Amino acid sequence: MREELTPAEPRTRTLCDVIPKARAFTSGPRDLARARSLNVPGQALFPVRSHLSIGNRHPAIYNSLMLALAVTAASATAAVAAGYQSMSPTRQWYGRTFIGNPRLARQLALTYDDGPNDPHTQRLLDLLAKHNVHATFFLIGRYVRQLPHVVREISQAGHVIGNHSFTHPLLIFKSEKEIRRELNECRAAIEDAIGAHSHLFRPPFGGRRPAVLRVARELGLQPIMWNITGYDWNAPAAAGIEKKISRRIRGGDVILLHDGGHKQLGVDRSQTVIATDRLLSQCQNKGFEFVTIPEMMQKPDTSFQAPPLAR
Ligand SMILES: [Zn+2]
Repeated sequence: MREELTPAEPRTRTLCDVIPKARAFTSGPRDLARARSLNVPGQALFPVRSHLSIGNRHPAIYNSLMLALAVTAASATAAVAAGYQSMSPTRQWYGRTFIGNPRLARQLALTYDDGPNDPHTQRLLDLLAKHNVHATFFLIGRYVRQLPHVVREISQAGHVIGNHSFTHPLLIFKSEKEIRRELNECRAAIEDAIGAHSHLFRPPFGGRRPAVLRVARELGLQPIMWNITGYDWNAPAAAGIEKKISRRIRGGDVILLHDGGHKQLGVDRSQTVIATDRLLSQCQNKGFEFVTIPEMMQKPDTSFQAPPLAR
């Protein structure tokens, strides 16, 4: 029998009209019966179908679709929130990470990711020595295997070295076994280079979920994030890097910069080196003290009021 298309009712229903009732059931024969009892008309939701419908004979299908839509929307919202918590450096939803210590208003901690990277890491070492400053370097294990002499230079200059995984994957998509292997292989590479390993770990891209933090802690590693970034991974001009950092400094901050790049060795970090030089001069003139992450994690010093930096 030919199915007749009939004009829809003049009113146009919205998603909000439908979802409260759609929430009352899920799917299946019992739910379809309940849906019919709710008597939600099956008129089309969208304008393109607002003038034609297949009568009111399929409300349950219609409502099931609306429910699926609502569930999808809720899931998408939850996924966005979960993703934000996974990647935002200062969020603590998935477990505690170190992001600085505001009580240590005199102190700032410079951290450099994705090295070692010849020759920019060494240029940075020269610069830090000039300012008599120690920093914390989170190294990629496969680069450590290629440039162990640079790792030794970092260590011998008194800087702290942390684990940044072996291949720099986004760990939120990795199994616990893979996470453990990434951290262990990086640890082994660093230990082979300098005979020691700190208790510090920085997740690649800042990405973490409970399993990432759990595995790190099982291996005796403390997750270290940051609260200020120079956004220097695309090698912008030094002035831009410096400005992004200096306007956010309050004291007790962990600053993220890069002496290497996770995609390959040899990326140009000369702008980061220049920006570091300017920041060190500016901040030291204001009375700030640069410390390593382990130093900042020690007891608080509340004796210092951080002055505002030039904008
Ligand atoms: Zn990285």
